[in-house]
Amino acid sequence: MKKRVLLKRVVALSISVILSISIVGAQVPQNIIFMIGDGMGLNHIYAAMTANHGKLNIERCSHIGFSKTYSANDYITDSAAGGTALACGVKTKNGMVGMSPDSTKLSSTLTRSGRIGKSTGIVVTSSVTHATPADFIANQDNRKKEEEIALDFMKSPIDVFIGGGLKFFKERKDGKDLTKELEKKGFRVATTMEEVKNVKRGKLAGLVAQEALPKANEGRGDMLSEATQKAIELLDKNKKGFFLMIEGSQIDWGSHANDASYTLAEMLDFDKTVGIVLDYAQKQGNTLVIITADHETGGLTIKDGDLKKGDVEVRFETIKHTGTLVPIFSFGPKAEEFIGIQENIDIPKKIIKMWNLEK
Ligand code: MG
Ligand code: ZN
Repeated sequence: MKKRVLLKRVVALSISVILSISIVGAQVPQNIIFMIGDGMGLNHIYAAMTANHGKLNIERCSHIGFSKTYSANDYITDSAAGGTALACGVKTKNGMVGMSPDSTKLSSTLTRSGRIGKSTGIVVTSSVTHATPADFIANQDNRKKEEEIALDFMKSPIDVFIGGGLKFFKERKDGKDLTKELEKKGFRVATTMEEVKNVKRGKLAGLVAQEALPKANEGRGDMLSEATQKAIELLDKNKKGFFLMIEGSQIDWGSHANDASYTLAEMLDFDKTVGIVLDYAQKQGNTLVIITADHETGGLTIKDGDLKKGDVEVRFETIKHTGTLVPIFSFGPKAEEFIGIQENIDIPKKIIKMWNLEK
């Protein structure tokens, strides 16, 4: 008799546990913060972890998966096609920005989020018109068309963007000063990080360098984490939520240069920003964080290391991108959707589904 009652209780308890787990699983995040380490492979992460005495913020993510990065026309993707896959959910040809291989204009998760009333933002350490951020904003057949990409910002629903690239808005062949147009559209245009930090509300165009920002180990300071903090502060005011893309743009550049200290400085700078994002997501409670890469760069290998001393010896196999799987780390509601091995295009497709962003 007693046994049966106990059994019933156990069954009832486990049903309620299952129910509460499925309710948590069904929760749709209010905000999504999508972080891209350009060129960041698994070895980049462990090299940085070793340099940081065996610990990184990225380890706080609860779920891990992998993505296949090949593009529509090449086993080795470039950042334009890799970013288009991550932004729009379509594999395209290398060099193309927010366009399918047949030059059909695509609509990114950022653009679609803006359409349903979410606030949207971008924070990068390259020019904001560089391939990766451009994939979330623009539709161009060639990533080199940075002045055309700047024009595409005028049509985007974006609320906050912080990075470099002022010259593509101001010193243009067509003579237009797009910063004036941005002001007409209600943006505060800030050209220094001090000005960025002073903006307390509303739309912000932070164009804090002519082109790219300096290297992390050559005077960029905490620009990426400070800009991220500001973007979150501004976007968080929308009760409907927000979509924010953050890129560690120069991990790729350090790796193309086969420069270990440049690469590691960029990795640690990116991870510091990961920490800020995860602190916010943990406190806010309804924010999905996805951290991934568009491809690996440099074929970075780890030859030796010392976790106590924080020493790491790395080698590069190539000055180009490689074809290896890249990791996906996720945290927050729906984080479990991103585990396993998937196509890069599956990541935005899952976002589109969970937020009902189909056109
Ligand atoms: Mg990039
Ligand atoms: Zn690259």
